Amino acid sequence: MGRIRLLSDTVASQVAAGEVVERPASVVKELIENSIDAGARKIEILIRRGGISLVRVVDDGCGMDRDDALLSLERHATSKIRSAADLQAVSTLGFRGEALPSIASVSRFRLTTREPNALAGTEIIVNGGKIDIVRDGGEAPGTQVEVRSLFFNVPARRKFLRSENTESRNIEHQIHLQAIGHPQTAFTLLRDDRLVFQVPTTETLGDRIRDLYGAELLERLIQLHGAASRKVQIRGFIGQAGLSRQTRAQQLIFVNGRAIDSGLITSAIREGYHTALMKGQYPVTFLFLDLDPATVDVNVHPAKREVRFRDPNAVREAIVRCIQQSLERGRTEWQEKFRAPLGVPAGVPGKVAPNLRLRPEVSAPEESNRELPHLGSTVAGVVDPGRAIKTHPPPSPGPVKRDGDRQQFQIIGVLNKLYVLMENADGLVLVDQHAAHERILFEELRRRMEEQGVPSQKLLLSQIFDLPPRDADWVERNMSILQKMGIGIESFGPNTFKVDSLPIFLNASDPAQFMRKVIDDLKSVSSSSSEMRLGEEMIAKTVCRHAVKANDPLRYPEVEKLIRDLLDCDLPYCCPHGRPTMIQISLAELEKKFGRKV
Ligand code: ADP
Ligand code: MG
Repeated sequence: MGRIRLLSDTVASQVAAGEVVERPASVVKELIENSIDAGARKIEILIRRGGISLVRVVDDGCGMDRDDALLSLERHATSKIRSAADLQAVSTLGFRGEALPSIASVSRFRLTTREPNALAGTEIIVNGGKIDIVRDGGEAPGTQVEVRSLFFNVPARRKFLRSENTESRNIEHQIHLQAIGHPQTAFTLLRDDRLVFQVPTTETLGDRIRDLYGAELLERLIQLHGAASRKVQIRGFIGQAGLSRQTRAQQLIFVNGRAIDSGLITSAIREGYHTALMKGQYPVTFLFLDLDPATVDVNVHPAKREVRFRDPNAVREAIVRCIQQSLERGRTEWQEKFRAPLGVPAGVPGKVAPNLRLRPEVSAPEESNRELPHLGSTVAGVVDPGRAIKTHPPPSPGPVKRDGDRQQFQIIGVLNKLYVLMENADGLVLVDQHAAHERILFEELRRRMEEQGVPSQKLLLSQIFDLPPRDADWVERNMSILQKMGIGIESFGPNTFKVDSLPIFLNASDPAQFMRKVIDDLKSVSSSSSEMRLGEEMIAKTVCRHAVKANDPLRYPEVEKLIRDLLDCDLPYCCPHGRPTMIQISLAELEKKFGRKV
């Protein structure tokens, strides 16, 4: 008896704060979201020492009168929903009425706020959840929140904070998310009194991306158009095939305007990119999903970073399809540029290409069997692999068209026995012959798999081998696709299998060991993927061994065929592992490098 007690509001807020306010970036997130809900057109953020010593967010939103300002610090006080029914269709970023009291309970907190037409504003100072001062304040209309000494009264939490740099980076990422999500709001970030960035209000997402990340990135993005399905609208931008990052920092996802983390969506994006994405790399996405609010539950997590979909499969499929179609479209657009006839530099109308054809033509039939000029490896040093080179994703399929007698690109030679140098209207193209061959082989095998199956070759001796029960189960389930892949495998007793043929292009000296490796490689992809996908994965993993090795010298007709086959591919600009097959260096970039143009 008498052991149970109601927690005081301050303690209850601190407990709740544990979930809402994990680190300085969460403070920034909550405050910015409040500013946006208040209709701010301009938000200024200042942080000191990674936000641990100070976070200040100033907005020009609707402000609050004194009663509301006091009420906003109470737990579960919100102006955004009134009834449980409103939860069905939340249109604001906030709705739980928890952020301000939570933050105020774990910091030294100051709120000043003023409605646009009010004569005076209100200033409230709270220390560790206890209101110390309430008085008139004279700031401009809008709201200003200052959060100092975060977690000063929760040492256990403070210990979990990372370095100031890391916390600053988290904050910056958070502000990027908000800035991308709300292009019509201007943002300024000051870190330790230095301006980190400042973006003006803009009309479109594209403008915001350019302002925040630069025109070069925007150029390499594909805009998503309109509806993916009746239930899910998808808009925004995604990186062209071959564009990727080592971190998730530019994989931004929004559901009904709210930045979220979603395993479901990230894996759908991956599936959409499939072989257009380098292994271990992350795609660049500014992906906005809009769906009926009644079909998304945003009230899953106190920080509202996660959502639950009523029909997750529909969402997944819509994203996969949208990304596949957009990548295809991106390819068509690039194709036009890549294939523009030589002599008419793309984008420089009226200007005649300066002496582009210095070297002799190499396509004369009588010469066609000679080896291509091999350019010394010293040339490589001239090519700065840094920012000047764009890994342009994108040409596209279709036979190499000839424009009269002149084809639309011309092979110049082979550099370092690996890189084919070509000229097209836009400038110089470098093709990695190894990666190119991988792509060609991959698509050919995939086609065969779809049609009649990959041709296989009988082994001299069939092999019998055991597998652990789980792997055996996997093989049983995927038997038919393995057979289509040219692997002649069948059951041979419990957990035992027999292989008597392998795909023709493979020369595995130990078939049993090869099978174990295939199973290891593939079982992780199988659970959620289609048969086709599994087959593709397998081809992607095995073609590499068969592709032309770097340093295999090729003769001219072989190089020409390689390029033609490459351009016939569905996704010619990256190998099945997502590495680029070709790099375009435009004439404009060359001119810049040579100081001909500023
Ligand atoms: P929620 O955002 O979930 O409603 P908060 O604790 O974040 O809960 O904020 C409580 C209330 O305070 C909000 O509903 C809003 O009415 C008011 N408020 C908070 N920040 C601002 C702001 N920057 N401008 C105007 N009103 C604000
Ligand atoms: Mg809020």
